[in-house]
Amino acid sequence: MSQSQKLYERATKVMPGGISRNTVYRKPHPLYSVEGKGCRVTDIDGNVRIDFSNNMASLIHGHAHPKIVEAVNQQMRRGSAFATATEAEVQFAELLCDRIPSVDKIRFVNSGTEAVMACIKASRAFTGRSKLVKVEGAYHGSYDYAEVSQTAKPENWGDENQPTSVPVVSGTPAGALDDVIVIPFNDWPRTQAILDNHASDVACILIDPLPHRVGFSAASPEFVRNLYQWTRRNGALFVFDEVITFRNEYSGMQSNYDERPDLTALGKVIGGGFPVGAFAGRQEIMDILDPGKDQLPMPHSGTFSANPITMTAGRVAMELFDREAVSKMNQLGDYARSQIGQAISNSGFPASIAGAGSMFRVHLKPELPVEYRACYSAPAELRLVRALVDHLFDSGFMLINTCSGTLSTAMTENEIDALAESIESGLKKLELPVAAK
Ligand code: PMP
Repeated sequence: MSQSQKLYERATKVMPGGISRNTVYRKPHPLYSVEGKGCRVTDIDGNVRIDFSNNMASLIHGHAHPKIVEAVNQQMRRGSAFATATEAEVQFAELLCDRIPSVDKIRFVNSGTEAVMACIKASRAFTGRSKLVKVEGAYHGSYDYAEVSQTAKPENWGDENQPTSVPVVSGTPAGALDDVIVIPFNDWPRTQAILDNHASDVACILIDPLPHRVGFSAASPEFVRNLYQWTRRNGALFVFDEVITFRNEYSGMQSNYDERPDLTALGKVIGGGFPVGAFAGRQEIMDILDPGKDQLPMPHSGTFSANPITMTAGRVAMELFDREAVSKMNQLGDYARSQIGQAISNSGFPASIAGAGSMFRVHLKPELPVEYRACYSAPAELRLVRALVDHLFDSGFMLINTCSGTLSTAMTENEIDALAESIESGLKKLELPVAAK
């Protein structure tokens, strides 16, 4: 019996499904990592794999970057958390406010979920309205409102002209569902018709410019412009979820559009490998959090928010991820999508490649799906995706279980070439879907 199997047996006795987060679940058992260096991770059985998951896109420099390790070690010796402010949070806040033109002020939290939740609450507090608008299928963490329709299925998603608000967790209060308006991605005519029924109730429109679960294609400039203009006409706020996409441009993917969001949610890479989130935006809005003012529409705290370990690791990681590093990373991303595209075409399997910047996703669909309903995988297709991801694991590559990958500055073209080769051999092993035979 392998060490992983033994550990999993113990784990199933003390954690539901033997795990603490579903993203690591796999059959017959999860992997147990013992060490990561750069882009390679060693598991408890001594297998070494190239890491394209980068802890769900959160490690921009791979594992244990020496400069981050050194800075964190120094801070650790001085203490990891205080019930006071520290210089580390001021330094990191200055860096991010300088780096993102839409951001005057920022507050740190501990996860992307918390960052999105805070953006939604700030929008409600600022506008005095309750409704959230979000894209069907888009993942924004696990706040009741933000997760609505993230897992919608053909049997419950309803009419595409009026998508149903579908709960993720049984028992979600009906009030939460009623307060979320679900729109189709990149489809302005349908979206406009839906939104115009709620013109005076919307606190904010929340959008991820490259939603992974909606297909991993970018929001079109027209969609973003129209959403933004709708918010201006109707007194709502425009919120970007850049928890995952901040890595794709020096100032986040918002810099690819002409419109600036009122608020931005951040997370993942800005933590330098540690738990993090942040919400940030225009001064006038962020000032609702200022306890020095007579009115305090949004009181906000968090025991570990802005702890100096995360602040130090995040600042060093972002200093290292300068304009040049971002552009190098994105060139490698273009190379990865092109090599994987070539592998797909060599294999003869009807698949496609999506993504942007330093991220990609292989779809086992001949046409690139550009919205959630087209991206949805029926069980037979899901089995093939799992078989491909398993083949890649067995061949020494860790990917995200949707067959998505993210790059780190620790990678070169060599790792990408090896991955593309393995994707080609994996696709050749898959049984063709009935429609393609
Ligand atoms: N928003 C987006 C776009 C995300 O990808 C994620 C995490 N995958 C979250 C929010 C939630 O972040 P966290 O897991 O840190 O709570």
